[in-house]
Parts: sequence; structure tokens; C-alpha cells
Amino acid sequence: MSKRYCIGLDLGGTSLKSGLVGETGEIFHFSKRPSGGALAAQAPLAAIAEAVDELRVLAGGIPAGIGLGAPGAIDPRSGSLVGTTPHMPHWSDFPLREAVESLLGVPVAVDNDANLAALAEHHWGAARGARSSITVTVGTGVGCGIVVGGEVVRGAHGGAGEIGHLPIGRGGLACRCGVEACLEPDMSGGGLARRAAASGLESAGAEDVFAAAAAGDRAAGALVEDLCDRLGLAIAIAVDLIDPGVVVLGGGVSEAGEALMSGVGRALGRYALASHRRGLRLVPAAMGERAGVAGAGLLAWRAATRAVADGAPLVGRLGSV
Ligand SMILES: [Zn+2]
Repeated sequence: MSKRYCIGLDLGGTSLKSGLVGETGEIFHFSKRPSGGALAAQAPLAAIAEAVDELRVLAGGIPAGIGLGAPGAIDPRSGSLVGTTPHMPHWSDFPLREAVESLLGVPVAVDNDANLAALAEHHWGAARGARSSITVTVGTGVGCGIVVGGEVVRGAHGGAGEIGHLPIGRGGLACRCGVEACLEPDMSGGGLARRAAASGLESAGAEDVFAAAAAGDRAAGALVEDLCDRLGLAIAIAVDLIDPGVVVLGGGVSEAGEALMSGVGRALGRYALASHRRGLRLVPAAMGERAGVAGAGLLAWRAATRAVADGAPLVGRLGSV
């Protein structure tokens, strides 16, 4: 079967996810490889080149476009990383789009990874049909993407949606961002694991703490309840400011399922305005670890559509997957 497709790339500090993304969100040949983000500035670029080469061969045709999601604030005009991100320790004000385009020899659409996950959930996933949605990804850290009227809210410098680093945390654990009393350690999987270790709980990570809480461990239960409270507080602020129809919860910690959803729901009841909560749906993410690749593909589709509207030749129609 012949289909049109774009290449979607989701770059993280430890892994690069990639796949072919069809026009309606279907993903083919999804895969993960080490990104080498901690090794050297050029290592993620080598991983990107390898993934794109592989997908071009698998697809047997020219992609309609290539999209890339990356951590940190990405300037919407230049496609460059603004400042630094702890996920890519060798990059500072890194001209990401320029570097990837010169590597691949074709235009590449670039955006922040949380923004792209939010875009994918909004159009193809758990928030489909909503006018406005917020997608919060809770893993080692906390990411957030805001979509209003179908478009990602990026802000002046690509940094909108950073609810993870609001300065209203308990201040017990420091965050790498440097903000005083940053909230992220209080509501992330990484912070939960650190607090569990500090209180003497035998656990390897956030997943273990949730499992211990589910099994009736009171100390673990208190830590989980506190995480839900702080996460709900952060989301309530976003809800009051943006008034979305849907809040999507994703990321590794969201796999805890009902314990997290109900805890955050109770916290929203305490902290968000009743008028904003009334029609609000809090739902688990639908696209899992593929959301970033899907969003990058969608970004590429949009760029390709705009280019054709501007008179560029249509490409990518002969790709078969
Ligand atoms: Zn922080």
C-alpha cells in the first residue's frame, strides 16, 4: 500500500525516538536508539542522521517533510535552543535547526518536545475534539505543552508552559533549573524517588513508591498523596490561566494510573476555580511514548502543507510503508 508520510524525531537526553508518521497520525517503524546527549555536542546529530537514513530506506521514498522535537526552549523563528537544558549538557544557545538541516540537506521543522507531545494528543490523542488543551508529562521531570485553538502556545522565546519550575515548591529538594523553591522536585517522578530514599523507603524509583502505596505502605502513600497535591496545584494554576477543555496526563509516572488521576483530580478540586473545573476533563494520555514522534510528524506535515501552498513542489507521495 502506498502512503504519504513524514519523518518524526523525538530527541531526549538519553534516547532518540523516530518513526514514519502518516497524515492521520498512524506511525510506522517506530524505534528508539541512544541519543548520546550526555556524550558530546555532535553525538545526537549522528543519532539523528542514522535514524533518518534508516527510515528513508524502510519507506522506499522521499518523505513529505521532517519534524524534530527536542528538550529546552526552542526559539520558534530560528529553531535554536535558547540558553541551556540539563538534558543536553553540551549544548548552549545551540543552532539546532541549522545544524540538522545542514546535516540532512533538507528543511526540518523543530519545536520543544513537550509542545509536540501536546500537539499530538490534541489532534490525534486524548484531547481530540477539544478547542484548548494542556498536556502534562510527568516523568523524571515535568513537561507541559499548551494548545489553544489547535495551535501550540510557544511564547516570545519558545518557553511557554513551564509549569514545572514555578517558584512555589516546598523548597526541600533543589532543582537543576536554579529557581528558588522550584516546584518540580515536589511533583516529579525523580523528586518522588529522592524523597523516598531520604525517608528510608526501599525503592528503586517512582514506580516502586506507587506500588508500595498501593500495597498499603503508609509512608509511601503519604509521599504519593503529596506528589498528587503539588501536581494538582501546578495544573490548577494553568487551568485558571488558560481555561482548557481537557488536561492530559502522560509520562512514565502517569502509568501509575488511577492512583495518580484520582489524587490529581482531588487536588484540582481544592485549587482550581469551580467555574473552570465544571466542564474540564482530566484524562490519561492516549499516545504513550509515541506522542513526541507523532507531534514531530504533525509539525512536519503542517510545514509541508504550507510550503505547497506557497508554490513548492509536492514531494513524498511515492513513499510506501
Ligand atoms: Zn526547576
